[in-house]
Amino acid sequence: MSDALSRRHFLKLSTALVAGGAAIACPDKSRAIGYTQPRDGQILETKGYCPFCQVRCTYRARVQGGKILSLTGDPNNHWTGGAMCPKGMSMVELVNSPYRITEPMFHEADGSWRRISYREAVDMVATRMKAVLQKYGDKAGNRALP
Ligand code: SF4
Repeated sequence: MSDALSRRHFLKLSTALVAGGAAIACPDKSRAIGYTQPRDGQILETKGYCPFCQVRCTYRARVQGGKILSLTGDPNNHWTGGAMCPKGMSMVELVNSPYRITEPMFHEADGSWRRISYREAVDMVATRMKAVLQKYGDKAGNRALP
């Protein structure tokens, strides 16, 4: 596998994983799924899915001024019938919390935290994933490895 190919696959996977929470968790509103620039004070309904477990319940969120006003399960979801569990519904409090971390943080060896850019974070993870792939090859995903 070439470097360019593995990096492209990594970025595709990362994008897919992040996209689920992006509709409500993205600090840059213009990048959120289904987001349309609202007129001042306009309440928008946007769709997304909960990233907290593998069920991936879909929802509809009412958003105003970059804040979620309310969240409901998507009644058109064939599997959930519009239901969401309390953990998923807690997204409103989580996303609107003033304590929410919205940028990548790097844990230094001395225990302190340092804010880093998304570019630095992605490069860091890609470099480490590439090293694991080079070391373990096809068995890189095996959790039983030391
Ligand atoms: S709402 Fe609950 S069940 Fe649905 S994806 Fe989120 S955590 Fe999972």
